[in-house]
Amino acid sequence: MAPVIYPTTNLTATEQMCIDHAQGIYVYDTDGKEYIEGLAGLWCTSLGYGNTELIEAITEQLTKLSFSHTFGGKTHAPIQELAEKLKTMVPIEDAYFFFGNSGSDANDTHYKMLRYYFNAIGKPEKRKIITRERGYHGVTVAAGSLTSLPANLAHFDAPVEALHILRSDAPHYYTGRKGNETEAQFVDRIIDNLEQQIIAEDPDTIAAMIMEPITGASGVIVPPEGYYEKLQAVLRKYGILVWADEVITGFGRTGADFGCTTMGIKPDLMTFAKQLSSAYFPISASVIPGWMYKEMVAPSNEVGVFGHGYTYSGHPAACAAALKTLEIYERDNLFDHAAEVGDYMQAQLREIFTDHPLVGEVRGKGLIAALELVSNKTTGATVPGGKGGALAVKACQDEGLILRAVAGNALAFCPPLIITKAEVDDMLKRAKSAVDSTYEALK
Ligand code: PLP
Repeated sequence: MAPVIYPTTNLTATEQMCIDHAQGIYVYDTDGKEYIEGLAGLWCTSLGYGNTELIEAITEQLTKLSFSHTFGGKTHAPIQELAEKLKTMVPIEDAYFFFGNSGSDANDTHYKMLRYYFNAIGKPEKRKIITRERGYHGVTVAAGSLTSLPANLAHFDAPVEALHILRSDAPHYYTGRKGNETEAQFVDRIIDNLEQQIIAEDPDTIAAMIMEPITGASGVIVPPEGYYEKLQAVLRKYGILVWADEVITGFGRTGADFGCTTMGIKPDLMTFAKQLSSAYFPISASVIPGWMYKEMVAPSNEVGVFGHGYTYSGHPAACAAALKTLEIYERDNLFDHAAEVGDYMQAQLREIFTDHPLVGEVRGKGLIAALELVSNKTTGATVPGGKGGALAVKACQDEGLILRAVAGNALAFCPPLIITKAEVDDMLKRAKSAVDSTYEALK
């Protein structure tokens, strides 16, 4: 094997799939076998593969200006145009954008900007961040500590103590309910837990709460009705900012522009990456409101600069990729398309899998979904050792479908937004055969 340290990979494993080329929603391995990319790469290739408009826009930008940094008084047209365009789209007043290269670094940027802002306004003690059990926010030092998945914390000495991170309940009724608790009782209990935690910690020491509107890597958790309304009421009551991590849910994935729209969240901060450029070039954005930005200006008089930035912050080709991606979303009404095909996919998933003996829960919204694979449909007991998910992924591959098992036994779907209803049918037919054979193999 080549001397590569493969990310998020079992380093003892020797089996690999070598992907060679791709087109539309399909990828092909080096043997020429075709697969539907049912997870849009890593929840990111919204416009599919081989989009010539995007390739041309990036090539044109690279030809004209292959690099220009944005430190110390330099700017360029693509970064300005992108910020102006995004400003018209986001539900944040007078928004400002810091550009980076990944969802992780964008969350680290937010983490640091929150400290910067609260220091600037003379509230240095307001620095703790609330995250949720099962949340995934990336793998850099701050983002990795905000993540709650055990594999991302183990052996990294994370979470880092000095980062002052608090964890609250995962809003997943199916796996988190107690006894005969109703969904409404579950919501009330976990919101009450949150409020008690805030009071015990002292609200004046808590800056923000980070949340994925609908989670991805923890198994596509769609919080119950009423959860976000009650959650936001508590956060507002104690002056805690709402930080929406839209790295997966941003730009049409949930059948609306943002996951915040779908789930009724009014964010103060937003994080974008992935579908911002349909993964044609790495780019992320940390979005803050104007009132926060204005307070971050004054320290430059004392320090000389706002001392945060990446070499590739606002890389011209990345901005060109994002601008073209946003243009295509708008021109082709792709958010409406995702809503319509997403409704269809959700209905078909429920039709095909609700009664399946291996499936405990079918969940999702728009073009993101998951099947919870269980060993006992009545009790919801999971398949030990994540074996259901691992077997199902392998069986899908045999059927020519790439999916991911997340959080052990959640089989996740997140196809490119350009997928058609006929392609959804094909994807689910392959998934059904794979889940059937997994069920037989586990018997
Ligand atoms: N936040 C969320 C919600 C994510 O799903 C991810 C990645 O999957 C990240 C942050 C981290 O993004 P990246 O892998 O680009 O660092």
